[in-house]
Amino acid sequence: MSAPTEHSTLLPPSQHTPRDGQNGAGRHKESRLSLITRIIIWGTLTLVFAVGLILLLGFKHVLSDKFHSLFGGLSKDPMTAALTVLDKAPIIDGHIDLPVLTRALYANNVTAIDLESPMPQHVDIPRLRKGKVGAFFWSVYMECPLPEDEDNDFLTPTWSVRDTLEQIDVARGLIDKYPDTFQLATGTEDIRAAIHDGKIASLLGVEGGHQLGNSLAVLRQYYALGVRYVTLTHTCHNAFADSCGFLPGIIPFHGGLSALGQTLIDEMNRLGVLVDLSHTSDATAAQALAHSKAPVIWSHSSARAIHDVPRNVPDYILRMIGTGEDQKDAVVMVNFAPFFIAPPGKANIEAVADHIVHIALIAGKEHVGLGSDYDGIGTVPEGLEDVSKYPALIAELYKRGWNKYELAGLAGGNLLRVFKGAEKVSRELQAAGQQPAYDLYSKRKDIPRVEF
Ligand SMILES: [Zn+2]
Repeated sequence: MSAPTEHSTLLPPSQHTPRDGQNGAGRHKESRLSLITRIIIWGTLTLVFAVGLILLLGFKHVLSDKFHSLFGGLSKDPMTAALTVLDKAPIIDGHIDLPVLTRALYANNVTAIDLESPMPQHVDIPRLRKGKVGAFFWSVYMECPLPEDEDNDFLTPTWSVRDTLEQIDVARGLIDKYPDTFQLATGTEDIRAAIHDGKIASLLGVEGGHQLGNSLAVLRQYYALGVRYVTLTHTCHNAFADSCGFLPGIIPFHGGLSALGQTLIDEMNRLGVLVDLSHTSDATAAQALAHSKAPVIWSHSSARAIHDVPRNVPDYILRMIGTGEDQKDAVVMVNFAPFFIAPPGKANIEAVADHIVHIALIAGKEHVGLGSDYDGIGTVPEGLEDVSKYPALIAELYKRGWNKYELAGLAGGNLLRVFKGAEKVSRELQAAGQQPAYDLYSKRKDIPRVEF
């Protein structure tokens, strides 16, 4: 076969060439007949299509539930609708404290922990599956040092970094122990791939700047171990930022972010570590939201207008979230802890939904998510007893008129968008040549200062 030239064609020869023996009149009659046949076929198809469309649009309400769902609608039954949404867009929880439970109850001995059997608190594999969980951040948390240690400019030595490494170790050990269930994830593509393979994407989040030991180098090493968010503070102030404490009345130390705290955010942006503003003071949150080049998260915080505690996000900060001028993309992942949800004895699934609706009202439905705090809270709201109950919450929002796209965003899509945004900023900063920050905490005396 000869090689094609610029005049050769890849199309087959013309089909219109008359065959040998056919005369002109025969061809004319044949083409008239085929024209009539085509008109009949196309007319019938158009009629069937039009009738179908009228039935679908005009009589949607009389079509059976099953038939309706075939065309992308959701069942009228809220739980069925919720499960349909979660099959396509599973839950991504911003904050689960399983590692701190394993430290307290099993001394972090991975071989002694059986996640396939009922665990004592809110999380185990059967209940994660029942709850349609596709991903969650394993919180690698260690408590704050004693309050009096803050009087020493955060320079009193602690075991926070060792203990955090132990929490990363137990989380990763459990993820590795159940390879059919968990898959370590360090980015949005990992999350999508794990969910696609029927696994639960497992991410790591450090819950408090005190766990960094005042050091940006520690941040980089946590990143290397897979950590993808750092909560700027827990209930204590640290060298980077002020906390909101636990009860009202904590006295600010820096007035928000310190200079080193700003550098910490720059370094988190460069690395692609999400800035988490749960637990921070309002001043810290507002300054961080303005300073960060990347979208930010609240991994487990609710709405202060619904229940007035310092851990919840006030409306003026919710108004700073968005895509407008002077706004930043963010997701507030609602905490289920009864103390943050409602007055004593009043926390239930409807009250949690009220927080979601309020954040959606002020910041937009695309800026709210779920950060249960399961295994980190002593009590739970009625109707949200453990990780198997997420579908009930999605069903509650469906009852309140949220459509499938909005529900998918709440379940996890909004977090994915924000995380993707942070990954993009990281790529851009690194492409622009931003170098790692080597700033030291100015009050450290243990390391010689060298002027470069
Ligand atoms: Zn917390």
